[in-house]
Amino acid sequence: MIPVIALVGRPNVGKSTLFNRLTRSRDALVADFPGLTRDRQYGEGKVGGRPYIVIDTGGISGDEEGIDAEMARQSLRAIDEADLVLFIVDARAGMTAADEMIAQYLRVNDKKAHLVVNKTDGLDAQSFSAEFYALGMNTDPWMIAAVHNRGVSSMITQLLDELLGPMPEPEPEPEWGEVSALTDEARDEAMAEASKEQSERQLKFGIIGRPNVGKSTLVNRILGEERVIVYDQPGTTRDAITIPFERNGKPYTLVDTAGIRRRKNVTETAEKFSIVKTLQAIKECNVAVMVIDARTGLVDQDLHLLNFVLESGRALVLAVNKWDHLDQETRDNIKKDINRRLEFVDYADVHYISALHGTGVGELFRSVEKAYRSATSHWSTNRLTTLLQDVVSEHQPPMINGRRIKLRYAHQGGLNPPIIVVHGNQTDALPGSYKRYLMNTFRKILKVTGTPLRFEFRSGE
Ligand code: GDP
Ligand code: GDP
Repeated sequence: MIPVIALVGRPNVGKSTLFNRLTRSRDALVADFPGLTRDRQYGEGKVGGRPYIVIDTGGISGDEEGIDAEMARQSLRAIDEADLVLFIVDARAGMTAADEMIAQYLRVNDKKAHLVVNKTDGLDAQSFSAEFYALGMNTDPWMIAAVHNRGVSSMITQLLDELLGPMPEPEPEPEWGEVSALTDEARDEAMAEASKEQSERQLKFGIIGRPNVGKSTLVNRILGEERVIVYDQPGTTRDAITIPFERNGKPYTLVDTAGIRRRKNVTETAEKFSIVKTLQAIKECNVAVMVIDARTGLVDQDLHLLNFVLESGRALVLAVNKWDHLDQETRDNIKKDINRRLEFVDYADVHYISALHGTGVGELFRSVEKAYRSATSHWSTNRLTTLLQDVVSEHQPPMINGRRIKLRYAHQGGLNPPIIVVHGNQTDALPGSYKRYLMNTFRKILKVTGTPLRFEFRSGE
C-alpha cells in the first residue's frame, strides 16, 4: 500500500505551496463529497521511485468557535488516514496559539508527526528554531522554503526511508527505458513475455465511486451474501480490501472500497467513504469499475474520480447503476448527458445496470475481461511500424521551418496501459491534432478498448 502524508497547519503557512511541490498538482482531487470538508485536496507524488499520496487538510486557524469544532471529525479523518503527518508552521509569523492547539491534538492522538518550519528563506536558522521546540514535538524540526523548493525533496526522501525502510534493490526485470535500447527482437521478446505473464495473472478489478451510488450493493451482488459476511472484518477504515473469488470457474480478485453496511444511513455512508481508500484501490487494480448513480446523474466528483483513473492509466468500465424503474424519457436524458460529458473517457464501455436486481452484471464482467485483454496486449515492432507507415502515408505530418516532421518507426514501451513509442525527428513540434489522429487510428486498427493508450514521441536524427 502507498504511504499517505497529511499536511496540517494554520492558513497561510504554505501548505498548498508545499502540496504543489509534492504532487503533480494539476491532478489534485478536491474533496467536496457530501459530509466531508470542502477544502481538502488529494494528490499523488513520487520521490526516488517511491509513490505516495498527499492530503492538504485545509487551514485550521483556531479563530473559529473552538478548535474542537473546526478540527472535528471529518477534517481530522485526513490525519487519521495518514501514515505521516507534516505539521507546518511559518518561520516568519513565529509561533501562535493555533499552532499550540494543533500540536496538542497531535500529541494526544499519538500520531507520527513531524514539525516542518516553512518560509525559512533569507532567515537565520538560529533566530527562530528555538521557539518551535516549545511545541514539544519529538523530532527536530525540518527547515524548508516550499516556495523555492528548498529542503523539500530531501525531507520527503528521508521521511519515506524512515517509514518504509531503505529502498529495496531495483527489480531485476529491465526498465522499459532499457528495453528500448535493445534490438527489436529482444525487445519484442521481453514485451511478449511480460504480456503473457500479465494476462495469466489473476485479474484484479476495483469497484469505485462516490458514496451511495450502490458499490456495496454491487459487491454483494457479485460475491453473494454468504461471502460478504465472511470477509466483513473490522479495522479497515483506510485500506481497500482485496477479496479473491471465482466466477464461472475463473478466479478473480475484487478490490473493495465500499465495505459492508448493516444499518443503512447517510452518516455511515460518509463515514465508510474514503478517498485514500479509493486512490489505493485504483493503484492496486488492473481494471477500475466506476459506479455512477443514474438517479442523481453525473456530478463533479464523478468527473474528478474519473480524471484520477485516467491519470493512473488503469483500464476502465463504467457502470451506471439504479437503472431499474426509470421511465424512458429519464433514461434517454441520462444517456445523452453521459455520452456528452464522458467524451474524455470514450474508450470505456458503459453499462446500465441495477445492482439491486442483478441486471447487467454479467455484461459488466465481459467488459472487464475485454478491457484487461486490451490493456495487456502486445504488438510487435514490425506490426506497429507498418501501421505507423500506413497512417503517415495516408496523411503526412506538417512541415516545420521548411522541413517535414518524420515519424520513422514505432515499438511498444509498456503494458496496462499500453504505451506506444514513436521515433522520428522534430516530434516535439507535432501538433495536437496530428497526435489525436495517430492515437485514434491506432486505437481503431489495433482494436484497443477499455484502456487508455499512451503515446511517447522521441526525436533523434
Ligand atoms: P496555505 O494557506 O497554508 O495553503 O498557504 P499557501 O501555500 O497558500 O501560502 C501562503 C503564502 O505564503 C503565499 O503567498 C506563498 O507564496 C507564501 N509562501 C509559501 N511558502 C513560502 C516560502 O517558503 N517562503 C516564502 N517567503 N513564502 C512562502
Ligand atoms: P455505496 O455507498 O456506494 O456502497 O452504496 P450502497 O450499495 O450502500 O447503496 C446506496 C443506496 O442505493 C442503498 O439504499 C441501496 O439499496 C440503493 N441501491 C443500490 N443499488 C441500487 C439499484 O440498482 N437500484 C436501486 N433502485 N437502488 C439501489
